[in-house]
This record gives sequence, structure tokens and C-alpha cells, in this order.
Amino acid sequence: MGIGRAVLVSSSTDLSAVPERLAKDPAAEIKRFLEALKATKRDMRNLGDGLASKLSEEEFALFEVYIRMLDDRSLIREVKDAIKQGRAATSAWSSVILKHVRTFKKIDDPYLRERAADVNDLGRRVLGYLQAKDTEQSPLPRRIVLVGEDLSATALADIPVSRLVGIISLKGSSNSHMAIVGRALGIPTVMGAVNLPWTELEGQELIVDGSTGEVISRATRTVRRNYVQRQREERQFNKDLEKLRDIPCHTPDGKRFSLWVNTGLRQDTLQSLKSGAEAVGLFRTEIPFLMRSSFPTEDEQIEIYREQLVAFSPRPVTMRTLDIGGDKDLPYFPIEEENPFLGWRGIRISLDHPEIFLVQIRAMLRASEGINNLRIMLPMISNIPELERALQLIDRAYGELTEEEGYSIKRPLIGAMIEVPAAVYQVKEIGRRVDFLSVGTNDLTQYLLAVDRNNPRVADLYHTLHPSVLRALKSIIEQASSVKCQLSICGEMAGDPLSVVVLLGLGYETFSMSASSLLRVKSMLLNVACKDAQILARRALKMPDSSAIYKFMAEALNQPEVAKLLSATPKRRTEASKLIV
Ligand code: PEP
Ligand code: MG
Repeated sequence: MGIGRAVLVSSSTDLSAVPERLAKDPAAEIKRFLEALKATKRDMRNLGDGLASKLSEEEFALFEVYIRMLDDRSLIREVKDAIKQGRAATSAWSSVILKHVRTFKKIDDPYLRERAADVNDLGRRVLGYLQAKDTEQSPLPRRIVLVGEDLSATALADIPVSRLVGIISLKGSSNSHMAIVGRALGIPTVMGAVNLPWTELEGQELIVDGSTGEVISRATRTVRRNYVQRQREERQFNKDLEKLRDIPCHTPDGKRFSLWVNTGLRQDTLQSLKSGAEAVGLFRTEIPFLMRSSFPTEDEQIEIYREQLVAFSPRPVTMRTLDIGGDKDLPYFPIEEENPFLGWRGIRISLDHPEIFLVQIRAMLRASEGINNLRIMLPMISNIPELERALQLIDRAYGELTEEEGYSIKRPLIGAMIEVPAAVYQVKEIGRRVDFLSVGTNDLTQYLLAVDRNNPRVADLYHTLHPSVLRALKSIIEQASSVKCQLSICGEMAGDPLSVVVLLGLGYETFSMSASSLLRVKSMLLNVACKDAQILARRALKMPDSSAIYKFMAEALNQPEVAKLLSATPKRRTEASKLIV
């Protein structure tokens, strides 16, 4: 649970997602607006000049038309009037432009109708300037609840994360990457809040309950007091868990298990170290890439990776190569696709852009010089040629660095993720070619069940405890053992205390998860005998659907100690969250 004031983040280019704000100083807002117009006109002129030789006369004339649109007196007057009536420049500009876009769209003439897109585009450009200034101006509250329509980790780049107490996104679900980042940071996060009137919440105090998915605004004193009390209990519970940190990882019947962490943000490194993790099972390298405005150079990447390798040394650190695409779009490498999760993602992009991949591999290898705890992992492998090409490129980078450039680098272990159904049927072939495998249950579940992990509308169909997922997991571990390939599991399922018992029962021993989940999982596994987990998993595998499995597991684990742990674990909310006003 988190209590703080709403800070709205809108994607600077989306006119329909502009928060409704009031103008504190209309004269200053008008000045800002005119400056934004001027800056956009300057951009258009520069853009036009730069393209002069490449465009036909007619196309070139379009730039003049755009500039004239921005000079249009009646348009400027309309916006100024709206500001004088008390609206902020961003709100006034977006509503006026959207009105004109709608008018253009209704015109019969197809040529003029298409101009709607131009007006929209111009509107976005001006908005970009207005919003850039906006963030500079508004002072941030002491406790921040970040609210946005489609939040991604990029939004964290502009705020002090230490002041963040809540995250609310209208789009996405509990399996989206924003949710994973929120979980890693231990920040109450509500996803898929589809009906939230978010543009009206700026500056309001909000209570965010990450376990029930509730967002409360204008709470009464009694409700607020109640939440503050629950926050206190939660803190105490987490503090008690910290006592488990140095207890060896053995089930009551002596089965050894390993708890690793998933990292990506600078801020979660510290928390990971405090949780007593034995290794980093997944460093999502795309997260530092998401926080920047351009691709980091080889030297900049070395700095990022070295920091991580040093922080955990001598413990192994598994660095996954760039896994962009899907719901992880770099602001400076946009990918527009109909079906992003079935499209250009992960290793597919890396192989199409070997120059990006090689720089990343070189940076990882160079960063590991003298530390020697690097493992490299490849995401989204769906066929053997893909894997072999990636391995060849890694060999090439390693050869160049050690044989031609004189670096003394220990060859890292190389692994592949099993997260695409095709890979499940080729675990042996993949396992023979790499040093380790790691199961990504987040993607594996979405692909096996054909449920977009990012879509709140189908979130109630997304179940990692689906019998088919469990059978796939059983097959993976059997195949990996038959080729003696090391295996871990790094999807969010590994961080869920109830699911982890099933995984233990299926034979998994190495679990990699968000730092905030680690001690809860540990507490569970210290209390459940491996032989009991095996019996439970065997029974679960015979059940027809995920709710039966969930109910069966929850009842079986209903010992007082365990029950307390489960009730403190955020539920995987399935229905859209509600706002209580
Ligand atoms: C997964 O798919 O389970 C995984 C660990 O990777 P990501 O969530 O980053 O896609
Ligand atoms: Mg994945």
C-alpha cells in the first residue's frame, strides 16, 4: 500500500491523453504556447530545408502549408481564449487541435480528409514543446504516485525513484513489464485501471493498494487511518522476513534450493543484495536502455554492466541480451506493429542488427574482465539456426577481444531462455548447444494460452497454474535433465509463494525473482517438505483447470504460518481495478 500525490505522466505526443490542468498564470501560459509554436515552426523550416533536394516541389510546398497552419490567427485565438478561461496551455491546445482533427475527418473530399493526420501531427509536435517545459516547472510532491495511460519504465527516468510510493497504469496487466519493474522496486502497482478518470487526478492524494488493485482518492479520515495502520503492519511483516536472510536454503526434509534475483534498475540492486540472493538469474539489459534518450555506446554499456557485476561479485550475474519489442519499446527505436508480441522481438532484432548485438556482447565481455562472474542469456529463442547465429556472433566478439585486442577475459557461460512453445519441444537440442537454460514463464504462459500478457481485457485468462503450463514445465525439466543442462526459472511465477511449491514439486531447484518476493518465497520453501511438494505437484498435474489447481494448492498449504504468507502476497488481480472516490 502506498499513499502519495498523483503525478500524471502523459506520452508527450498523444493529444488525447493530455491531463486536464488549470492555468495558474494565464499570461505565462500564453507566452509558453507562443514559444512552442515558434519552436515548432523553426523545426518545420529546418526539416523542410534539410529535405529540399529529396522532395518534389509539391511535397516541399507542404512544409509551407504546415507553417501557415501554425500561423493561423483564428487557431491561435481559439487556444488563447481557452487559456484565458483558465485552462493550461497543454489542455487548451490539445482540445482545440482534436476538435479540428474531428472536423477534417468528417469532410467528404478524401484529400482534405487525409489532412486530419497532418493537423494531428502538427498538434503533437507543439505539444511536445509544451510538455517539455511543463515538467521543468511543476515541483514534484514528496511522495509520488505515478499515474499514466500506458506507463513504461521510461517514466521512471524523470522522477526521483526514492520518492515513488505508487504506480497506476490504465493499460497493461500484472504481467506487463511495468508491473514487473514495480514489483522489483517493491512499489504498490495497479495495472489495467481502465476506467480511471486519470487526467483529473493531478496533485490529488491517492491510496494505492497493490494487493487488491484499489485506488482511493479523497479518502475519509477513517479510511486513511486504516491504510496507514495496514502499511505499518506490512512493514513489520517485511522486517520479520528479513530474519530469514542468512538461513540456509533447505526444505524441512533437506532439499537444497537456490534463490536468485531478477534485476534491471539501479535501485533494485541494493534491495537484491539485502535479500541475500545467491546470484542474478536475469539482468534485463533493456531496462537501462529504456531510461535513456539514445542507444548507449560500448563504453557507456560497460559502465552499466560493470556496476552490476561488481555489486554482486563473486556471485554469478546472468545478463540477458537486449529483449526489446513487445511492450518494451525504446523511445529512440520505435517499432510499430500490429502484433508486437508475435513480431520483431528479442533475439530477432539482435540478429537483424548484429552491430547492436555485437556492441552489447563486447561491452558485457569487457565489463567482466577481472571479475569473471558473467553469464550471457539469449531471449526469445524459437529455432536452432537463430541460436547458432547468436552463438557465432558471441564467439566472434570473444575472439576479437581476446585474440586481436589483447583483453584477458574468461569465457562466460552462455544460456538460452525457454519462453516460446517451439522451444519447449526442442529443449534437448537447445540444451546441447548451451551451458544453461532458464524458463521465462511470463512469455511462455502468454504464448501457450494465446493470451496477450499486456491486455487487461483478457487478464483473467492468464494463468501460470494452467495445466498446460505445468505440463510444459514438467517436459522442460525432464528434457533438460536428460541432456544434463543446468536449468532455472526466471518468470514471475518463481516469485509467487504458492506456485513455487508446485515448481519445487516438479523438480525445479533454482528460482529467480524480483527482490521483493525473495524472502516470501524463502519463507514458504523453508516450511514445505520437498516430498510433500512432489505429491501436490503430481495431483495438480491431473487437475482439469487452473482454478481447481489454485484452490487445491491454497487449501493444502493452509497451515497458519503459510496462510499468513499467502495473504500478504499481492493477488494476481484479474478484473479491472476500481477507483473509490
Ligand atoms: C519471461 O518471459 O518470463 C521473462 C522472464 O522475461 P520478460 O518478462 O522480460 O519477458
Ligand atoms: Mg520474456
